[in-house]
Amino acid sequence: MEQEDLETLPISRMDFLTLEIFKNVSFESIAGYLLSCKTLNINEGDIIIAPDNAERRLIILLSGLLGVKLDTNDNVFSNDINPGDCAGEMSIFDNVKPSATVFARQPSKILVIPPDIALAMINASHDLCLNFLHMLSQRIRHSNKVVCEDQFHIRCIEEESKVDALTGLHNRRWLEDMYTREMNRSNAGKFNLCAFMVDIDHFKHVNDNYGHLAGDQILKAVAQELSFSLRPSDMPVRYGGEEFTVFLPGTTKENALMIAERIRANIEKMKIALASNQMLQVTVSIGITMRTAGDTVQSIIDRADGALYTAKNSGRNKAVFA
Ligand code: GH3
Ligand code: MG
Ligand code: MG
Repeated sequence: MEQEDLETLPISRMDFLTLEIFKNVSFESIAGYLLSCKTLNINEGDIIIAPDNAERRLIILLSGLLGVKLDTNDNVFSNDINPGDCAGEMSIFDNVKPSATVFARQPSKILVIPPDIALAMINASHDLCLNFLHMLSQRIRHSNKVVCEDQFHIRCIEEESKVDALTGLHNRRWLEDMYTREMNRSNAGKFNLCAFMVDIDHFKHVNDNYGHLAGDQILKAVAQELSFSLRPSDMPVRYGGEEFTVFLPGTTKENALMIAERIRANIEKMKIALASNQMLQVTVSIGITMRTAGDTVQSIIDRADGALYTAKNSGRNKAVFA
């Protein structure tokens, strides 16, 4: 290049050599195109690419820091652009308006390359083309990672919404799904399946005499004891208030009776320490039933509930088979 041309270039050979996007690219092969580019100094907060601005241009950050923000209401996706990185390259290739906003997070200096010049540069240098492909691959990997993390968070929220916050047991939303599956499996294979309906006796009395917080502590303790007394394959659920259901897949009537009686006896023995240091004891009544042909989740729960009613009416602190 002539000396006078070099003076009008927006970036020096030294600058050029430090930019990642121009790695392995010969300065001479590109310098002619750089004559059609310019550098700009921008202030913190300045927007340089925006979805409502159709102007397409490739930006290379020379110094400072840029931020990228997807224009969603919750601004979940954001990313930084560091010196040497590009912005706006997708619009260059696909001729579509930008999907994100790019703004200066610090006072920055950018190299602005018009779209036709950017494409001509890529045509002129295989290495520049490779560098672009490398950068785009990195972007796609980053986006995939963000999507995967989002999916993971969504799954966590879904999972949490099926868990009762007080006791940590599953709730009725989970029950509808999982009990239905278990019922279908059991009906289809004619497998044993028993169900419990567990209800704390005179729980209103606990709330009335010791307060709602004490009631919550009792609920937690009973739920914990219930979980401890069951096998991992059993399915305890906080059905609502102070009522719990359990599905016991592969359990015979005899075993179900034994397990229910063990739960009842263990809870009766528990001394629950309240925050006030008072010790409290509670009992539960349990209705037990076994799957019969044609049962649905509702019909088996109704039958267990009927047995629970009998247990309550015959003095409470009892396990009764329907
Ligand atoms: P029974 O022996 O016949 O079952 O009598 P009970 O008093 O246990 O039955 P009842 O259904 O009349 O009372 C249930 C009480 O459970 C009423 C309600 O205030 C209380 N309750 C429901 N959910 C919660 C909760 O999350 N925390 C607390 N502390 N109490 C709850
Ligand atoms: Mg009760
Ligand atoms: Mg009740």
